[in-house]
Amino acid sequence: MSEKTLIRNARAIVTCDEQDRILYGADLLINGNQIEAVGRNLCADGAHVIDAAGKYVYPGFVNTHHHFFQAFVRNLMTIDRPGLTLMQWLDEIYKVFICIDDNVIFYSSAACMADLIKHGCTCSVDHQYCYTTHTGKRAIDRQMEVAQMMGFRFLAARGTNTLPRWQGSTIPDEMCETTAEYLQDCERLLALYHDPAPFSMQQIVLAPCQPINCTEDTFLETIRLARSSNLRMHTHLCEGENSSMVRRFGVRSLEWCRRIGFLGSDIWLAHGRETLPQEYDLLARNGMGISHCPAPTMLGGSEILDIPGMQKAGIPLGLGVDGCATNDGSNMLDTLRLAYLMQTFLSKQRGSCPTPYEMLKMATAGGADMIGRPELGRLAAGKAADLFLVDVQRLEYAGALHDPASILPKLGITGNVWLTMINGRVVYQNDRLAGVDEEKLLQEGEQVCTRVLRNRCSAFAPYCSNQ
Ligand SMILES: [Zn+2]
Repeated sequence: MSEKTLIRNARAIVTCDEQDRILYGADLLINGNQIEAVGRNLCADGAHVIDAAGKYVYPGFVNTHHHFFQAFVRNLMTIDRPGLTLMQWLDEIYKVFICIDDNVIFYSSAACMADLIKHGCTCSVDHQYCYTTHTGKRAIDRQMEVAQMMGFRFLAARGTNTLPRWQGSTIPDEMCETTAEYLQDCERLLALYHDPAPFSMQQIVLAPCQPINCTEDTFLETIRLARSSNLRMHTHLCEGENSSMVRRFGVRSLEWCRRIGFLGSDIWLAHGRETLPQEYDLLARNGMGISHCPAPTMLGGSEILDIPGMQKAGIPLGLGVDGCATNDGSNMLDTLRLAYLMQTFLSKQRGSCPTPYEMLKMATAGGADMIGRPELGRLAAGKAADLFLVDVQRLEYAGALHDPASILPKLGITGNVWLTMINGRVVYQNDRLAGVDEEKLLQEGEQVCTRVLRNRCSAFAPYCSNQ
């Protein structure tokens, strides 16, 4: 590709690069899918010009944890986490999960990706672990269709649950697979979709759901396949399961991981909020990162991640919205602010707190590094042209426009961004997703939700007369 785009005269460009540069009244030149230059008065004859006067430019967010398939269990007060115990909540929500089919996955993925893109996210991981007779094995194939349609950079983490309930897991039998089934599908997906090259738009990650819902063999086979194929790995860890792990194996989750060899910089974990300070060193030494998802912590009333302690220990950190069962939205701007405010809540007790800019870097460069994509998450020559612009030429921002590095988490700019670019292509502008018939998808998605879930699942019963 040689097509050039010049983002001209931005009010500020927050690069999140190695030098933490912020440029004022500056330009950003894009050549194909990469950034060629960032600076003042850049020349580019014949380039397509985007007038960025009055706009702030940021590197696109990298969302490091999600479950798109959960989007059609949003906004249900019948499964509202604060009013239920964990087991009650799981029982109710699994009744919906086991009805989900591959059409639900297609449209819920479309809803999530639209939400992500419109709020500045340019790359997302999705941890898909819902495999039933209704979904079949084509869930990730359907998600790839959506990602390609929207021009979204997508890492599909192929999850699984292999330990049946009678052996102590919380998973209904309908959602259990065998390790062999899982591996066979991983190999299929790997051959079909995985592009390991830098700037890749689609990758496969191996991601057993969590140790308490999988056999040890599933994890061992995951490590074998991932390391022989050079894939990243992901799972849920230290999110409230440690007491069950101690009961079952006599050790905490992380020690269990160490014993089976599930350690390394090619692995990142979702949540990690239960990690003990004495366990930080093991994570740091192995370069094993944590995806911090603030919304489920709030909804579950759980421990607030010790970000200052983890930063000090050198644990890689990224930000995630998490699945819609524990965060009804997929808005990274909202997640960024929530994460910052949660840390401030304990700043007196802990004696320190990450700055808003540190949280922004966690949501961009930090997340990118953690998932093995150092070409993402910063605006510098040679990096991917993944970015978003915010229009700050608006009355509501009067008096706040002196610190573009802090404004997103500090002020709470959570409305739609002005423009999102992924891989050098404008995918969202003027409140429209490029090349996507949003009305049609919305209508079809609503029809699928009604046919497959609302008409069948008791959780929707009180709402039946509202449609
Ligand atoms: Zn999760």
